[in-house]
Amino acid sequence: MRKVMILSGAGLSAESGIRTFRDHDGLWEEYDVMQVCSTEGWQADRGLVTRFYNARRKDLADKKPNPAHYALANLEKRYPGQIWNLTQNVDDLLERAGCQNVIHLHGTLRDLRCEACGHVWDVGYRAQTDDERCPACDSNRVRHNVVMFGEPAPAYRFIQQAIDESSLFVAIGTSGQVIDIVSIATEFAHSILVNPKREMYVTMFGSHERYIDEYFETFIQKKAGESAQELEKMIDDFLA
Ligand SMILES: [Zn+2]
Repeated sequence: MRKVMILSGAGLSAESGIRTFRDHDGLWEEYDVMQVCSTEGWQADRGLVTRFYNARRKDLADKKPNPAHYALANLEKRYPGQIWNLTQNVDDLLERAGCQNVIHLHGTLRDLRCEACGHVWDVGYRAQTDDERCPACDSNRVRHNVVMFGEPAPAYRFIQQAIDESSLFVAIGTSGQVIDIVSIATEFAHSILVNPKREMYVTMFGSHERYIDEYFETFIQKKAGESAQELEKMIDDFLA
């Protein structure tokens, strides 16, 4: 049974209005990335970091999935057990489009996590309160459930499993700065990249002076939502 590994990044949700630090949107301009996305920042000022994730969670409430989220949900329904749906995104737009098996590599905005017992629970789009307590163990050591720089990302173990089991790799809306999509693509005979812009392949060892898309079998140079029909058909043809 053929399987497909799909890895999505910020570009999947960009057309839905989900911003990142790169976009210099209002929500983000008040904050310094290392202050709110690193363990150092968290240790220095938990209140500031909590307010930041509260604002992002609230901002998510009125966002809507775009055609690319729905395309991935359609595929999951048609090919149960054949889609590895890995995302770097912390929003819930894949779930709202109907996906039931999403692996959030960097955590989830809607959930809170207990540092004492590890329990994770959904709070919707509301703010974490000052007296928030863990519903499982009653500890007050409650935090956001988004992975920060400087801490482990437990769900990364699924990346290798997905590579081992799949025969098509699809990267959507990620430039590979956090997860090296080129080195993943080179392990596959079949690969598809969806990105609106061509970007150079740059690693910590420097520039390779080639575009990322040159390492992929197929390059769809479009925004994720605009690619949805074409992408869904390609994956359909591969799995059917
Ligand atoms: Zn707990």
